[in-house]
Amino acid sequence: MNRKSRRALAKASPAEKQMADQVALFGKLPESCTLCSEAFDKKDRDMLSSWKVVVIQETVRLYCPCCIEQTEEKVENERS
Ligand SMILES: [Zn+2]
Repeated sequence: MNRKSRRALAKASPAEKQMADQVALFGKLPESCTLCSEAFDKKDRDMLSSWKVVVIQETVRLYCPCCIEQTEEKVENERS
């Protein structure tokens, strides 16, 4: 890494970095639910607030409300 890019990295606050990450991820959002393939419209505010985006390493996974419920149930079952 050269001196210039190292300085730029140190300067960026964690919040700024996170914001940049989210913008980058937004462009990578899948167009449908990862589990059931239900279509996702990122212009729909209700969908944006009710769907869940999970980032695992470089992979963006998108879950519709139904699948969120199901995965939460599954987690509950695994826990007990
Ligand atoms: Zn789904």
